[in-house]
Amino acid sequence: MTIPLVVGNWKMNGGLAACADLAHATADLLSRQNSRAMVALAPPFTALGSVKNILIASDIKLAAQNCHWEESGAFTGEISAPMLRDIGCHFVIVGHSERRHQLYESDDMIARKLMAALKHDLRPILCIGETLSQRHRNETLKVIGAQLDAALKGLAKGAIDKLEIAYEPVWAIGTGQNATAEQIDQVHNSIREYLKNNFGSSAGESVRVLYGGSVKPDNASMLARIATVNGLLVGGASLNAESFVKIVASFSPTVN
Ligand code: PEP
Repeated sequence: MTIPLVVGNWKMNGGLAACADLAHATADLLSRQNSRAMVALAPPFTALGSVKNILIASDIKLAAQNCHWEESGAFTGEISAPMLRDIGCHFVIVGHSERRHQLYESDDMIARKLMAALKHDLRPILCIGETLSQRHRNETLKVIGAQLDAALKGLAKGAIDKLEIAYEPVWAIGTGQNATAEQIDQVHNSIREYLKNNFGSSAGESVRVLYGGSVKPDNASMLARIATVNGLLVGGASLNAESFVKIVASFSPTVN
């Protein structure tokens, strides 16, 4: 059975002291509860090193929020995949909609980032999702398919189980309005179908498909119970240790 993954994306929040406090509080609360989920935290770049030192005694994995596709060179302000590996990252988020829409990251850039992450033994968490107007135009599945095509086009069949996919409807991120179980199920089934058709049935089955978008302690149990949901990507609610750990606990051994 796939071990669910719950990722806390802290985005551009917290100086060193605040990130250290949050990492300590999260690790401490997690150590006292029972969940079958794997947990990863994605602090801002500046706190990766200090958070790594705090997490070292726990099972919590370190994740980065982005990487560049080149290994080194004249790319002012960028951080490369080997640098992230060097500092102890296990995962890297790739193609988050805030980067696609606010920083104009193209499908091609995202594909190159994904390949760079894999080359350096980082597990990419590939984010895909439709905007509200695309959903209203009934284009959701078409958009999801095109994003998968673009991001995974260069990937060898055998490499598909080295990444995670996060379905994050753009209209659900940071809005307080999560997708319904029916909407999530429809998209997750289409992602699974895509993986099986393009990478073979057993490889396609082993990839985790996470949901993200206004996940809160109140809706986490409902989301964790959806059979096609293999984990959650949590933004705002991961900035509060109690809330985040309640979300992780929704994957209790007895819930699903
Ligand atoms: C995210 O940033 O990936 C996210 C899902 O944010 P939020 O949980 O705040 O909607």
